[in-house]
Amino acid sequence: MDTPTNNAFNAPRKSLGQNFLQDPNIIRKIVNALGIKPGDTVLEIGPGRGALTELLLESGCNLHLVEFDRDLAKYWQQQAEEFPQLTVHSADILDFDFDELQLEPDQRIKIVGNLPYNISSPILILLLDYVNIIERLVIMLQKEVIDRLSASEGSKQFGRLTVMVQQTFTVSALFGVPNTAFFPPPKVASAVAELIPHDQYPVNDRVVFGALVKMAFAQRRKTLRNNFKLSDHWPLLESTDFDFTRRAETVSVEEFVEWSNRISAS
Ligand code: SAM
Repeated sequence: MDTPTNNAFNAPRKSLGQNFLQDPNIIRKIVNALGIKPGDTVLEIGPGRGALTELLLESGCNLHLVEFDRDLAKYWQQQAEEFPQLTVHSADILDFDFDELQLEPDQRIKIVGNLPYNISSPILILLLDYVNIIERLVIMLQKEVIDRLSASEGSKQFGRLTVMVQQTFTVSALFGVPNTAFFPPPKVASAVAELIPHDQYPVNDRVVFGALVKMAFAQRRKTLRNNFKLSDHWPLLESTDFDFTRRAETVSVEEFVEWSNRISAS
C-alpha cells in the first residue's frame, strides 16, 4: 500500500487527536479483540494512517471508514479503488449519517477506533443512540475514561458517563497501552475496552433517564436533594419513593433505571 504524502502523515494534527499507533502487537491485539468473522461489517472511526485499517482489510470484512481529516480521507478514497470491500466516508463522526452504511434490517456491525481523545465522551454518547446496529465495540481511550466506563457504584470514577454507558453496554477493560506505542506519544495513559450491548436494564423513556442522571450528577459532592431541589421537576421527583439523602455516586445503574421508569410511569 502506498503511503500518503499529505500533511497529516508527516505532521500529525494535534487538534484532531492524531496520535498514530505504531506497535504491531497492540494493533494485532485490538483487531483480534473484534473477533471478525466472514461477512462481518466493521466501521472504523478515524483510520488515520491505517495502523488498524490494514489488518482490518486483511481480515476480509466489509469495512467502512469515517475520517474527518480531509487529506487522510482522500488518501483512503484512493485506496478504495483497489479494495472493493472498502467504503470511505469523509465526515465528522459526530455528524455522520449512519444511513450511509446502508445496512440490512437487523444487521449489526462491529465498531473499532483509536478515538480522538478530545471528543471521546461525545462519541460514546452518540453511539448509545445506535446500539441497535452494534454487535461489539472495541475502542482505545484515555485510561482514565475507561476507568470511568467500567467503574462500580460507590467509587470515585462512577459518574454520569458510567451510568449512561453501562445502562446500554457491558464494559470490559481489556489492556493498557504504553505511550511508546504511539507517534507522537500522548501525554495521558491509554487503554482498550470492549463494549457489548445488553438489555438487562430496559429504560421506558430515554429522555427522562438521561435528564435524571444528568441532574443527579450535577454536583457530585452534593446529596440528591440538593442537586434536585431547585429544579422545576422537584415536586414530581419528591413524590417518588427514593432516599434523597444519598449522593448520585452511590446509586447503581439498576436503581437509576428503576427510578427513571417509575418517574416516566407517574
Ligand atoms: N486509527 C489510527 C491509529 O490508530 O493510528 C488513527 C488514530 S488517531 C488517535 C484519531 C483519528 O481520528 C485521526 O485519524 C483523526 O484524523 C481522526 N478524527 C479526529 N476527529 C475525528 C472526527 N470528529 N470524526 C472522525 N475522525 C476523526
